[in-house]
Amino acid sequence: MAYQLPALPYAFDALEPTIDAQTMQIHHDKHHQAYVNNLNNAIAGLANLEAMDPVVLIKNLGAVPEDKRTAVRNNGGGHVNHTLFWDILTPGGASAPSGQLAAAIDRDLGGLDALKDAVNKAGGGRFGSGWAWVVASADGKLSVTSTPNQDNPVMDGGGTPILGIDVWEHAYYLKYQNRRPDYLAAIWNVINWTKVADRYAKR
Ligand code: MN
Repeated sequence: MAYQLPALPYAFDALEPTIDAQTMQIHHDKHHQAYVNNLNNAIAGLANLEAMDPVVLIKNLGAVPEDKRTAVRNNGGGHVNHTLFWDILTPGGASAPSGQLAAAIDRDLGGLDALKDAVNKAGGGRFGSGWAWVVASADGKLSVTSTPNQDNPVMDGGGTPILGIDVWEHAYYLKYQNRRPDYLAAIWNVINWTKVADRYAKR
């Protein structure tokens, strides 16, 4: 069974005005679809890999034949990263963290404003394309990090991402052009903290 593009669970214009509908449509239907297609092409005929959960696949790149490993890293990472991104941007849900997640943010990152500053700094400082992340360790400790390209923190055993912000130009260029900091400042308007808390609970 080949990997499949998950349907966007809301309308392309649901995140307006923070993220415009055209960006969402191209990002989901073209960019994410291309990662899925390229991943499937890379592992075609390797039934054990085709059957894996995509997160398990990118955690175990050593199990991928060497000549296909870079393609799986880039495109499997792209598939996993975007699947998380659409989920945590879902409109609605809690507009701020609460409960255990809020307590962990206060304890480990110095509060929500400090979390936002750290993520914006990680994403703003990423040269070229990549992602900014909030990662939870198995025992619940939070940290902020950044990866290049479509890498994901789990590839290096770095814990479970509970929030990820795409800082590739394709994520913001139509509306924000070169102003990545403006995109990063605005995206907090559309983070669904209920979804982030779910990911924290299931880490
Ligand atoms: Mn993207």
